[in-house]
Amino acid sequence: MPCSPARARELLRKGKAAVFRRYPFTIILKERDGGDSQPVAFKVDPGSKQTGVALVADFQHGKRVVWAGVLAHRGQQIKAALDSRRALRRGRRARHTRYRPARFANRRRPEGWLPPSLLSRVENIWTWFCRVNCACPLTGIAQELVKFDTQLLQNAEISGVEYQQGELAGYEVREYLLEKWGRQCAYCGAKDTPLEIEHIHPKSRGGTNRVSNLTLACHDCNQAKGTQTAAEWGHPEIQKHAKLPLKDAAAVNATRWALYNRLKRTGLKVEIGTGGRTKFNRTQQGYPKEHWIDAACVGESGERVYLKPDQPSLSITAAGHGSRQMCRTDKYGFPTRHRLRQKRHFGFQTGDRVKADVKLGKYAGRHVGRLACRATGRFDINTVKGKVTVKHSTCTTIHCSDGYTYTKGEKALSLPLAKARGISRQI
Ligand SMILES: [Zn+2]
Repeated sequence: MPCSPARARELLRKGKAAVFRRYPFTIILKERDGGDSQPVAFKVDPGSKQTGVALVADFQHGKRVVWAGVLAHRGQQIKAALDSRRALRRGRRARHTRYRPARFANRRRPEGWLPPSLLSRVENIWTWFCRVNCACPLTGIAQELVKFDTQLLQNAEISGVEYQQGELAGYEVREYLLEKWGRQCAYCGAKDTPLEIEHIHPKSRGGTNRVSNLTLACHDCNQAKGTQTAAEWGHPEIQKHAKLPLKDAAAVNATRWALYNRLKRTGLKVEIGTGGRTKFNRTQQGYPKEHWIDAACVGESGERVYLKPDQPSLSITAAGHGSRQMCRTDKYGFPTRHRLRQKRHFGFQTGDRVKADVKLGKYAGRHVGRLACRATGRFDINTVKGKVTVKHSTCTTIHCSDGYTYTKGEKALSLPLAKARGISRQI
């Protein structure tokens, strides 16, 4: 059962408990097993970039947040990695190499398939449910089951038949663009020249294929613009046409039922709340907007929850488990360097959180951070102050690599209670 930090410190000081795990901080009692426990609910507010997680215990005197975390996803990183792999493979197929048969027609996707970038969001939340469940017996789950209306997000006044007729009603994409941009280059106004479809916010920088992000440009303008946005290239009037992408809303929409079904598999009761209810609960109780506070306020059980807005929350960032690429290439795709088969060197692995006690040299001092492992035995440590290079013999593992990196929620720590209350009153 989660206890207060003061109690944990006392138990550790008296030698009645030992540190079991650093993240999430867990102690193990030496003298007894079992003991009293209260019902604890795992509450989650899924978002596209960040997900709030809170453990809410049901004590006699009311509900109270006993642990909170904010989980940052890596959906965009996964997409970028797959894009780069696809580009390399495409280039390789086009070169004069041995014949590789096309492999797109012999694939079948199982039911409920999600793209890897979306699946990772579901898996991250599931991983953390399991991790927390190991340390603390969970008795219930609450999830915000959001649905963003993507039509309504663009145009709040939309109604009736317009709902069914999107921007493309009656047009094909190309025809629509020709019509919209007056059959000329949007940048230089050139007519009677082959026009190319151009992304106002470039694809290479996360721009989407959404029609409002597309324009027409002649070949020269398209090349000259390169990876700049229209505004950066000196055409703010065209930038205005590019609406905000809906990919964040789409990511949450696409994963909400997958997450719900996954959580239901635990056999625990899954409580569902809408986004509107979460916000209502939060503002009624005068809490500021934080992902973990939203999580605590999800659903009916979030109507009365005691929490301190300045209590620390654990910032969890999904970092992955490294890549499987054995051969790194230069920018043209030619192999330049190879990786060793083994991941562990001198008992360490990239991603471990370590402390190093360096006696001599440029980096003398104590350092704590994430390790980048090298076969030479000279490791890099990413600390808060920057990167340091240390010898393996000075390092001690604090927390083994588990696919996530951690920082204490600095924002949550520095927010004074009085100020937080003030903000909420204005809402
Ligand atoms: Zn042009």
